[in-house]
Amino acid sequence: MPSNYKYSFTKEFAVQLDYEDPLAGFRNEFVIENPDLIYLDGNSLGRLPKRTVQRLQDFTERQWGERLIRSWNEGWLNAPMRTGGKVAQLVGAAQDEVIVTDSTSTNLFKLVVAALQYMPDKKKIVTDDLNFPSDIYILQQICAFMGNQYHLEVLHSPDGMSVPTELITSAVDGQTALLTLSHTAYKSGFTYDMGAITELAHQAGALVLWDLCHSAGAVPIALNDANADLAVGCTYKYLNGGPGSPAFLYVRRSLQDRLSNPIAGWFSQKNQFAFNLNYEPAADIRRFMVGSPFIMQLYAVEAGVEVLLEAGMERLRAKSVSQTDYLIALWEEWLEPLGYALKSPRESAQRGSHISLGHKEGMRIDKALIEEMNVIPDFREPDNIRLGIAPIYTRYVDIYEAVIRMRQVVTDHIYEKYSSERLEVT
Ligand SMILES: *Cc1c(COP(=O)(O)O)cnc(C)c1O
Repeated sequence: MPSNYKYSFTKEFAVQLDYEDPLAGFRNEFVIENPDLIYLDGNSLGRLPKRTVQRLQDFTERQWGERLIRSWNEGWLNAPMRTGGKVAQLVGAAQDEVIVTDSTSTNLFKLVVAALQYMPDKKKIVTDDLNFPSDIYILQQICAFMGNQYHLEVLHSPDGMSVPTELITSAVDGQTALLTLSHTAYKSGFTYDMGAITELAHQAGALVLWDLCHSAGAVPIALNDANADLAVGCTYKYLNGGPGSPAFLYVRRSLQDRLSNPIAGWFSQKNQFAFNLNYEPAADIRRFMVGSPFIMQLYAVEAGVEVLLEAGMERLRAKSVSQTDYLIALWEEWLEPLGYALKSPRESAQRGSHISLGHKEGMRIDKALIEEMNVIPDFREPDNIRLGIAPIYTRYVDIYEAVIRMRQVVTDHIYEKYSSERLEVT
């Protein structure tokens, strides 16, 4: 029996799936200016929730315009913690273990340095080459800045798609201070078993830091159940917080007063408004803040996260698995014969919510899709067309239409009009 047996390759079938989708109504929570535009880039920049428009209008006109500095005591000062508490519900942590602050890269820097200083006798850091470049750069620079006493081991993915657990088991040893990985890999979508990997690192005596950028809001995460030590993640992808929205960080409660923040700004100080000149870190998660929080965007993050909480992570995951499986079935039927290769794991348990398809003309196809086919995927070197499924607003017909248009771009030689020079932002 072919793996595709349960699918029918008609548009009516896609329409029927949307009709039966219990989450279909959530699409209405988002601003959709052009219903014919197929947006499959919610894993780079999520759509704008309608309630965010209202929140930001209230923010600018009333909170900032009228209330002015009084607003700091009317919700602004507490916004990083309050929003963190909501993100915590999405990622399986206690409310006082998550805070929304700074960028993912900055948070990674703070937590990695804090972890290394907490484990002064261990001199090895382990990561893999599926990790996001920013993470690797920061690890390299931390090693340089700490006097090159650390050895950074970057495990090589044998297939460019996933990393076998055995590789990690053999790399993480008694000398390892920290294992840090992207939970879901940004290119292939490969997703680690957080509980199992955390446990094997703990057995070797290492701490683990998870980068949740491509999994938060896409797959259910259980930081507490997994015994996770540290995590960071961004809010402009599946959490729909808008461009440049602040990131979140998680520190297991039992570690919070043992780790120290290497960028000890005044927002990390206990009683910051006492303006004491001796640094005394806050006893709670606020000790991992730096300076003034990005208040306006915190209100956008809060609104975006609320929509996801209302839909529920389990239901979102069920829809995401169903949609990515459907996309793979359509790929096999129509795109594989045209030279598109599946560059994401086939097994749904091993992947997040995006699918990468490689094609030797990937860049030209990507441009043709954006320029004249009304499909927005994104592109990741060397030849990956990355299709992000955001189950909160992506419809089955969107997936169906995207595949039809990806087929047409090749069968009608439409991509040949475009150069293979890369775009600045994809
Ligand atoms: C998107 C992404 C980042 C982005 O970091 P910023 O500091 O927010 O720019 C970091 N890590 C991973 C895994 C990502 O996917």
